[in-house]
Amino acid sequence: MILVDDHCHLTHELLKNQLDAVLERARKAGVKAIICSGVNVPTNREVLELAKKYAPLVRCSLGIYPIDALDIAPDETGLSRQIEHFDVDKELEFIRANKEHIAGIGEAGLDYHWVKDEALKKKEKENFAKVIKTAEDIKKPLIVHTRDAEADCIDMLQSSSVKNVVLHCFTGRKHIVKKAIDLGYNFSIPAVIEKLQHFKMVAEMANINQLLSETDGPWLSPVPGQPNEPANVIYTVRNIAKIKGFTEEETANNIWLNYQRIFC
Ligand SMILES: [Zn+2]
Repeated sequence: MILVDDHCHLTHELLKNQLDAVLERARKAGVKAIICSGVNVPTNREVLELAKKYAPLVRCSLGIYPIDALDIAPDETGLSRQIEHFDVDKELEFIRANKEHIAGIGEAGLDYHWVKDEALKKKEKENFAKVIKTAEDIKKPLIVHTRDAEADCIDMLQSSSVKNVVLHCFTGRKHIVKKAIDLGYNFSIPAVIEKLQHFKMVAEMANINQLLSETDGPWLSPVPGQPNEPANVIYTVRNIAKIKGFTEEETANNIWLNYQRIFC
């Protein structure tokens, strides 16, 4: 079996202290590629280093997390915190300068879960517009995080020329899922599909050629009491196989081809 985890956070304190074991379990499970995502200034540098050290298994994407970019990230996330003011323009320059070393841009997007203030929502949109522009300019896939802001997020993407869109853990409502499918966007389905009906619905609605597999480790674990990790992408493959009526092998191969089309 050939597997890919296109979105996780190996620099999180729950994973980085046992990284060799985590990567060994991934290799054993058949994982051939892992994209580790940055969210802010310090983690973007960490994931670049990690990708250099563990290439070709580990790759990275550089992100501008919507909440971090507003300087309102919560204290205890387990990731390195953005302490200084987030200079979005400067960080996008850093991303451009590193385009040869990254699989994509992200995670970035819109998040209204933590932001109710209209002025801040507007600021989020301004930041996301800049990220989209960068993805257009350097022609890299965009790994999108969105929560409680799916309609605005898809509208902004639709009015851009970015085609390689990866909606990670997309929790939008059914009609928005449908719209994203029609726009040709891709859905990165998390391993927690094992337990969450919503992702089964997304996997059922989308064409197999629009599906990718991720863990979002260490979060969203399908295994109670254990941090999530790349080896768990098998849960995504198993569930999609069941839904689509393919073998696990066929499903894994199809997702691998999708991964190559989008990220290689
Ligand atoms: Zn994530």
